[in-house]
Amino acid sequence: MDFYFAIIHPMSNTLFFYNSLSRKKETFIPIDPKEIRVYTCGPTVYNFAHIGNLRTYIFNDLLQRTLIFLGYNVKRVMNITDVGHLSGDGDMGMDKVEKAASEKGMNAWQLSDYYLEAFKKDMERLNMLSPTIWEKATATIKEQINLISQIEQKGFTYKTSDGIYFDTSKFPEYGAMSSLTNDGIKEAARVDFNAERKNPRDFALWKFNTTGKKRAMEWDSPWGIGFPGWHTECSAISLKHLGNPFDIHTGAIDHKETHHPNEIAQTEVATGKKMANFWLHAGFLNAESDQKMAKSKGNFLTLQSVIDRGINPLAYRLYTYGMHWRQTAAFSWEALGGATRAFGRLQVFVQENLPNSTNLPNYDDRGSAPAGALPQFKERFLQALSDDLNMPQAMAVVWDLVNTSKKGNFQAEAVKLLLDFDRVLALGFSQIIPIGQIPENISKLIAEREQARASKNYALADKLRDQIQKLGHTVVDKQPIVWYNRQALLV
Ligand SMILES: [Zn+2]
Repeated sequence: MDFYFAIIHPMSNTLFFYNSLSRKKETFIPIDPKEIRVYTCGPTVYNFAHIGNLRTYIFNDLLQRTLIFLGYNVKRVMNITDVGHLSGDGDMGMDKVEKAASEKGMNAWQLSDYYLEAFKKDMERLNMLSPTIWEKATATIKEQINLISQIEQKGFTYKTSDGIYFDTSKFPEYGAMSSLTNDGIKEAARVDFNAERKNPRDFALWKFNTTGKKRAMEWDSPWGIGFPGWHTECSAISLKHLGNPFDIHTGAIDHKETHHPNEIAQTEVATGKKMANFWLHAGFLNAESDQKMAKSKGNFLTLQSVIDRGINPLAYRLYTYGMHWRQTAAFSWEALGGATRAFGRLQVFVQENLPNSTNLPNYDDRGSAPAGALPQFKERFLQALSDDLNMPQAMAVVWDLVNTSKKGNFQAEAVKLLLDFDRVLALGFSQIIPIGQIPENISKLIAEREQARASKNYALADKLRDQIQKLGHTVVDKQPIVWYNRQALLV
């Protein structure tokens, strides 16, 4: 008699993602298990990112970190929209970009570099990994022109007085994952109004400069001087670095309606092959009023405005774990306050139980978990991640680990596991310095600062805090929690 059996490795979690293409949760099967290829629609760098945009990038970072945590190599490509466009998801028109640049005493190139640096700074503050490849739209004009030529050769384009357009009526699969109703299509068409378009959903591949004035950003092309349409860059950049099909394409929920259907149409017409297997769309974070965040509505919150309220950016990162990434939600200062307190509790727990915090009383009693307890927590954490990156569930496991370890006196081992989880959570646990290892000069400054605070000499306390900061450390007061950058010292 033959025996058939399967050996199930405890960490061999099957990954599931909700795929906008099929509108259901699907098992993720890599195209090439040696390397997962991911494309992320990147920022438009003509303004600061708001915290809702940043929530989407935290989700992208979680995806990259989770794949790495599960043992995959990941190649993630992100574009940078540095060409001003005439329409699309709050982008500014080319002329508005030039106006905004001149108001700042810059040209369009300098303006986009300025906001790109601001975006990278936000990413760093939120402990995000860099994508494997960043690519500016303006660095791939040649590739975009080639792509448009390929689409033209296949007979899917037509010319109007202001540009070269994609004829969506020739691509019957167009808009498969879009949920736009006829009214929505009309509304989208109104925003990008051009009466010469044959169908309301046709979109520009190349725009001519019709102003008669030279612009800072314009290029020669087989169709005349102008600039590429917004959708063109993502197809050209993903083809350049990832080919097609690739594994996962990510973006925000609004991309599902127009931008991504347009990317699919371009890539699939040009290559005759599928663009990507999985399409993951992150929900919006609206303003407290539940309106969309927009500069014009005055409800546009940047990460800096959160930091200015004394909130650690990583507490904002933790706040986003309270919602499923696909969920659209209204921002709440109250909930962010709750996340900030929770973040402080986690920091204190980690510091008090870090290996090498040996000068603490009873430290030796904090390290023997019941047999099997730790693998079980790790398994549950992995299960939560594997189930469509369910962060509320993953955080429930984290808190269960913290509380159970306190009851069972195995906090030191729990912290070692938390440091492992932090490869995904990215809450800066590994940067916390164990008690007893704070350098002497820093300890001295902390003691002086405590004294200044006790005698209500806040000016001196602030000066000492700045001095500590200059030495590469940041003080995180337990109450209130203030932001730190590189290394945290809890006092
Ligand atoms: Zn894109």
